[in-house]
Amino acid sequence: MREIYLDNSATTKIDSRVLEKMINKMDIYGNPSSIHREGQKAKMLIETSREKIAELLLGKPKEIIFTASGTEANNMAIKGAAIQNIKKGKHLISSKIEHSSVLNSFKELEKQGFEVSYIDADENGVVKLDELKKAIREDTSLISIMHANNELGTLQPIKEIGEICSKYDIIFHVDAVQSIGKLQIFPKNLNIDLLSFSAHKFYGPKGIAALYICAGNNLKKLLHGGAQERNRRSGTENTLGIYGMAEAMELAYSTMFEESKREMEIRKYLESNLKNKIDNILINGENAHRLPNITSLTLRKCEAQSLIFNLDIKGICLSAGSACSSGALSPSHVLDAINLSKLDSKSTIRISLGRFNTKADIDYFLEKLIDAVKLEREMAII
Ligand code: PLP
Repeated sequence: MREIYLDNSATTKIDSRVLEKMINKMDIYGNPSSIHREGQKAKMLIETSREKIAELLLGKPKEIIFTASGTEANNMAIKGAAIQNIKKGKHLISSKIEHSSVLNSFKELEKQGFEVSYIDADENGVVKLDELKKAIREDTSLISIMHANNELGTLQPIKEIGEICSKYDIIFHVDAVQSIGKLQIFPKNLNIDLLSFSAHKFYGPKGIAALYICAGNNLKKLLHGGAQERNRRSGTENTLGIYGMAEAMELAYSTMFEESKREMEIRKYLESNLKNKIDNILINGENAHRLPNITSLTLRKCEAQSLIFNLDIKGICLSAGSACSSGALSPSHVLDAINLSKLDSKSTIRISLGRFNTKADIDYFLEKLIDAVKLEREMAII
């Protein structure tokens, strides 16, 4: 059966070129902390990978710390920065549309006596800058705002927030898990102190991610143990994963502009066909600047979960809202934040394109979606 994968924001398939390179290094097994030859072989692979990643971000190798996931990088950045900067104050700022790894890190800090302001987003899925400015206090020590939202693809005013943070001497963390490899982002030019990103979102392996920590930032560590990663993140390094991440990132950067343009064209084709061929739909975040690959689509009088099952039978993979909440039936906090009704939220799917999708995939998807919507609406469950 034909398989069409339209869930690239949940994760991407590892690129065969990256996989092949990783397989060729599979025999590197030494512990990078060991001073003998096997250890040093592994260490060398890690350090050249670190240099590659740092260069793509216009940063320094010592500013890149490897973690096991974007979730860990976000936890490390937020909890570490809050505790590190406690003398400045216990007030923190984030938004209502952040990923659960950010929101739940802040929830934990609230339990420890920190106060968090969660800024609203407008109906297009963009964080309200005026509200954010008003929320700043003397004791605000950290602002964490994502670069691109994972459910809508909407881009956030990172440049403006960076300027605000610089002016008020506030640490700025950016969750760039969805945008790295799709858009250029140079932390130093944007006054970003901490930047999280994860390899499995850009055709690299799973279980490996990184946190950029601006030189001079004295982030408190989360994991205690050995002195790996300049004593900032203990645990034996995932040598092969780090290598795969750097190769995947280099590949993504080498084709970023053409690929973003290509995906944007395919999405335009998808969205114009959706509007022409299916009535009673909404494209959420349509009027904002968005990543090139995400369409958040509300199909009224359809139940997203059941659409997903029906499409899966036809070989099409996609998500309802974000992947993390798609197993659960609770409505998406992001769709709620942009004031989508509970009913519309339950009728919303996320189509996320990627490197391996073609226009022909979209034609097949449209054909099957139109059938599935017709069936749903005839049954009129909601
Ligand atoms: N931040 C955003 C915006 C995400 O979309 C995700 C994953 O979907 C994460 C963080 C978590 O990354 P990871 O899956 O590597 O833990």
